[in-house]
Amino acid sequence: MAHHLVRRGFQPDTDFTVVDRGPGPGGAWQHRWESLRLGDAHRIADLPEMAAAGVTFANAPSEPPARAVVSDYYGRYERHLDLRVRRPVDVTAVSRSPEGGFAVETADAAVTFSPRVVVGAVGTWGSPRQPGVPGVDDFRGRQITTPEFVSSDKFRGLRVAVVGGGASALGFLRELEGVAAEVTWFTRRPVTFHRGESMLRAELGREAVRLQDQAARAGRPLPSIVSTTGMPMTPPIARMDRAGLLHRQAMFSRLTPDGAVLSDGGFLALDAIIWALGFDADLGPFAPLGVSAREGVRVEHGHAVDVPGLFLAGYGPQASTIGADRGGRRTARDIETYLGDGTWPPTPAARRTAAG
Ligand SMILES: Cc1cc2nc3c(=O)[nH]c(=O)nc-3n(C[C@H](O)[C@H](O)[C@H](O)COP(=O)(O)OP(=O)(O)OC[C@H]3O[C@@H](n4cnc5c(N)ncnc54)[C@H](O)[C@@H]3O)c2cc1C
Repeated sequence: MAHHLVRRGFQPDTDFTVVDRGPGPGGAWQHRWESLRLGDAHRIADLPEMAAAGVTFANAPSEPPARAVVSDYYGRYERHLDLRVRRPVDVTAVSRSPEGGFAVETADAAVTFSPRVVVGAVGTWGSPRQPGVPGVDDFRGRQITTPEFVSSDKFRGLRVAVVGGGASALGFLRELEGVAAEVTWFTRRPVTFHRGESMLRAELGREAVRLQDQAARAGRPLPSIVSTTGMPMTPPIARMDRAGLLHRQAMFSRLTPDGAVLSDGGFLALDAIIWALGFDADLGPFAPLGVSAREGVRVEHGHAVDVPGLFLAGYGPQASTIGADRGGRRTARDIETYLGDGTWPPTPAARRTAAG
């Protein structure tokens, strides 16, 4: 986003300000668990002109933790573009200002902003889906969600349930193997694994993006991506399969203080549960504008249709590094258009649609 604004002649810290509550560069990646590596399941697309900053993910090392590599690369990129990102600045509320722009409040009452345009590029890491299973508050063992996972050591010798059907859940199953006393994998639906069918995977990937876009345009909550794409049977996942780690159980029906009541009525004693249920866009600060990820927000081509001046970069169909360049380019152009003539929606095509 910032790169494309710079390319259009906007000056960092003069015409626009990037604020980030994270301690350093890397976005969500700096918080991912120590053992996560780039390579197998995790592929990151280069940001535009990243090579000019002297780095590319095409030959990123797979030995160091992904969080170290991504933080390092994004840090170099920020310095190369001289983005002057302000950290840590935690945005707590974005509301409409009387002048028609925005009032941006932060955790530090002395730091506020009043921009004409806000781009929420907040990602999802701060908003993991929470379990809604009966008895969840009664369970006496340890419970964490994906962002709280630090290392498998914390689960040494414990009887652990991993809940979820995506990449995070599979990663935890692998991490806990040989460390936890017992690991049981629960998912709501069976997980489809695709072996080597890269064309099918690409097609399913496109279908997932289409469904995300459809939901975003309609203002519905975003659907789960993995339920559309399934999981690729990468070499590490195939190894897990051979080791017998991929036996899922149907979701348990409720929790008791000591474990889970299974779908067939049986009981499983548990010491810990890792909830890897996916994420929602972290849109809490935008609540004063009537924007909520839970209820759904109407987003087309990266702009919030019902909130003039608000852009949501990385939302829905743009939510991966693959969509970042194209989404950022378009949004930078739309911001320039909106600042120029104040008309909303900002894209000519969207205006035609809105006009019927
Ligand atoms: C486990 C996991 C694995 C993934 N693997 C891949 C992968 O292999 N390849 C891929 O392309 N994508 C992957 N993704 C998707 C991932 O979301 C993107 O790679 C990328 O991190 C999205 O970038 P982003 O800038 O939109 O969001 P983020 O990286 O989440 O960055 C959001 C930034 O906004 C800041 N922020 C949020 N709220 C506030 C606030 N209120 N005030 C101030 N700052 C705020 C955060 O500090 C953060 O720096 C994965 C996601 C998960 C959860």
